[in-house]
Amino acid sequence: MLGGTFDPVHLGHLRSAVELREVLGLDRVHMIPAHLPPHRAAPGVSSRERLAMLCLGIGETPGLLADDRELRRDGPSYSVDTLASLRAELGAQARLIMAVGHDAFLRLAEWRDPEGLFAQAHVVVIERPDHGAPLPSRLQSLLAGREVASVEALLAEPRGRLLRLSLPTRLAISATGIRRRLAEGRSVHYLLPEAVRAHIDSRGLYRGDDAAPGGETR
Ligand code: ATP
Repeated sequence: MLGGTFDPVHLGHLRSAVELREVLGLDRVHMIPAHLPPHRAAPGVSSRERLAMLCLGIGETPGLLADDRELRRDGPSYSVDTLASLRAELGAQARLIMAVGHDAFLRLAEWRDPEGLFAQAHVVVIERPDHGAPLPSRLQSLLAGREVASVEALLAEPRGRLLRLSLPTRLAISATGIRRRLAEGRSVHYLLPEAVRAHIDSRGLYRGDDAAPGGETR
């Protein structure tokens, strides 16, 4: 599972998903847009629109799946509930992995039922350029005894472990940077799939008022 706001999906998400699948030997990567992200301001565009862009971005990419399960639930989109629903589908013995970027990982201890995340799945942290902050102490306690050093050690069990992964391609692309460029009328070519860029253009998304502020590289 690679969850996110995908506001909008970009090449950092998609390339990471492809490389996660290759490096970990996954059957598939469920890319799951949050309907109502609990830990951040409401996205500028609707979850339906974000899902539509995700579908366009994925296109026919083998092994990547736009999964709308969080849009089919009411209330905040808690990852622990999403993992429970994947676990129910896949069975107790399947190896289930929740992948998060390092920036999202830093706040993991604040998520709903962080222990429950590990009861359902492994957590794989994708190192991101410009996101190297040290771990808060609450997070360190949550992780105690869970970290493994290799993919093999991770895959030896169905859940409960943590692996930090440096993927081959690290792209310093963020949705915040894309929204900011669009709001300023600047080019976003080659930061996201062309079909997504054309969709944003034709629908006039993220122009002016609905674009959230934020740092250049986030
Ligand atoms: P925003 O700038 O709006 O916060 P974002 O670009 O970080 O958005 P999200 O939808 O919040 O995108 O990210 C979903 C997941 O993908 C998170 O775990 C995030 O850390 C990860 N991610 C986002 N961009 C990248 C990237 N360039 N490389 C690797 N992982 C990424």
